[in-house]
Amino acid sequence: MFRSLIQRHPLAAVARKYCNVRASSTIGNISLTERSHNCHELRSHHVGEKVTICGWLQHRRFDFMFTLRDSFGAIQIIIPKEEQGSKELVETLTAAYQESVVKVKGHVQLRPNGLKNKEMGTGDVEIVADSVELLNPCKEQLPVQLSDFNKVSEAVRMQFRYIDLRSKRMQRNLRLRSDVVMKMREFLWKQHGFVEVETPTLFRKTPGGAQEFPVPCKQTGKFYSLPQSPQQFKQLLMVGGIDRYFQIARCYRDEGSRPDRQPEFTQVDLEMSFITKEGIYQLIEEMILFSWPESLPTPTIPFPRMTYDDAMNQYGVDKPDTRFDMKIQDVTDILQGSGAAIFQSSSPSFRIKLINCKGATNHLKKKHIELLEEEGRKKASQLGMEKGGVIGVRLEAPPASWKSPIAKYVGDDVKERLVKSLGAETGDLFLIAAGEQDINQILGHVRLQAASLLEEKGVSVRDLSSFNFLWVEDFPLFLPKDEESTSQGDVESAHHPFTAPMKGEEELVYSSPLKVKGQHYDLVLNGMEIAGGSIRIHRADLQRYILENILKEDSSSLSHLLEALESGCPPHGGIAIGFDRYISLLCGEPSIRDVIAFPKTVDGNDLMSGAPSTLLNEELERYGIQVAQGKES
Ligand code: ASP
Repeated sequence: MFRSLIQRHPLAAVARKYCNVRASSTIGNISLTERSHNCHELRSHHVGEKVTICGWLQHRRFDFMFTLRDSFGAIQIIIPKEEQGSKELVETLTAAYQESVVKVKGHVQLRPNGLKNKEMGTGDVEIVADSVELLNPCKEQLPVQLSDFNKVSEAVRMQFRYIDLRSKRMQRNLRLRSDVVMKMREFLWKQHGFVEVETPTLFRKTPGGAQEFPVPCKQTGKFYSLPQSPQQFKQLLMVGGIDRYFQIARCYRDEGSRPDRQPEFTQVDLEMSFITKEGIYQLIEEMILFSWPESLPTPTIPFPRMTYDDAMNQYGVDKPDTRFDMKIQDVTDILQGSGAAIFQSSSPSFRIKLINCKGATNHLKKKHIELLEEEGRKKASQLGMEKGGVIGVRLEAPPASWKSPIAKYVGDDVKERLVKSLGAETGDLFLIAAGEQDINQILGHVRLQAASLLEEKGVSVRDLSSFNFLWVEDFPLFLPKDEESTSQGDVESAHHPFTAPMKGEEELVYSSPLKVKGQHYDLVLNGMEIAGGSIRIHRADLQRYILENILKEDSSSLSHLLEALESGCPPHGGIAIGFDRYISLLCGEPSIRDVIAFPKTVDGNDLMSGAPSTLLNEELERYGIQVAQGKES
């Protein structure tokens, strides 16, 4: 409904600048490449030096002036008019189309005063070419010009990704990503003795959790599965005495069309033996700080913490965006039975809650409030509620004079009490929800929508340049599966089935599993979950009981893990950072696709190569597979 917030993140502008790349062309006296320098390197102290540079032909200004760009910067090339051979050089360059790859030899000279370019790092100098070699001509008409990539659709960028990757934006994103991951490796390996272990990507089906991609094999009727994460392997590595494991792990989840998810994605995955929750928090906070990009404001540690219950009650989500207030407030005591039908109920679980959008009516018109009400209805129906949503109440002067369809049913004394107890003022907008089921999530949803809408109108709700980290903890170990199955008592793991119950609550697992809290923690950044992990179950009997008796899973497919737990398994725990999401937040990019070199569409297609593709019948036969008629896409 509303334009994504991150699109207007100030860091998006930074992301479009080159990062300060220093790539040397030599080691000692040995030149690594055909060039003596990269384009960005040349400065006034190089004047007079003979240089060889290579790059893409970017602009031609007059017949004798060109800009050459490589992955690190750009430099102006001049062909001296009067020199012998200049005519051929000009001809070579003018005949070449933009983005042709060229090698230029020449010497560096100072640009004349008045012709210096302050916008360019190399703007004080230029190269006077002695020779020009066309290493590879580019075709005449590229499907899209590099300069147009900001204007074309994402589909076009994905189709011609190899050109899009040359853009400043993608260069910056991929280089920042690489810098961060290198620092993380250094931190884990050098400073803390972690071992990087590669775990298989051809694995077996795991019970529960996300939908996995099956991979056929020559043993007809049998399939590997691509792992949704290295969870089992990392626990087995603890049994195997690795003690501290990490991996930049590729994970696969066949979750269908979900915006801003990728069927394959990257986690910074780690696990430690004998670790405590506090130990994990300390390690992750220090690692984030150690690998933090210099160009961004440094976050402070320790990160704040919040319980799951507080997050749900105050923000209506388990990943609160704490950059702004507008918290959920319970006003049942004041509004229940106050006249309007929606406030009537004798059910003990009936609640009335609201968020107060301060001063919002100065910016939002009736149609905007209707949009928010519509969002509330949508969320309620997503949650399986037949009716429900939010009602907007605009506070006019004096604030206890309400503008809303429910205004006439609520007495003035009640209005005044409410306004007073909340410290509300003229111009505020209440978004009120009432119901017997959980209404926090509805208010949590409209809270975010209201913030985006106000920002669209130019109101500063969130500090878009801040990085608000938050640990969310004390999650329930199990959640009711869904509305229909709740009556039969079906539950699922809030995180995954390997999470240990909170210390001291183990007995509750056997008597009232829904009351047990788990030793699970999530790290949230600006309202996005960027990491999740837990202290694990290390006792086979408890793990088996949870799988078989609570989650009703067939534990035979996990017999290897259960046996491992009985074979001297140290207590252990870990966490995984969703690396694509984390980097997209650092880069101020709205989509994780913008920090992945070769991403797929929402439907899982690679627009560049056409994957997934069909197989010939004989190829299918090899695997004993038949494609059902009419099911091909
Ligand atoms: N494997 C878990 C996940 O992918 C993370 C963890 O518990 O360490 O969510």
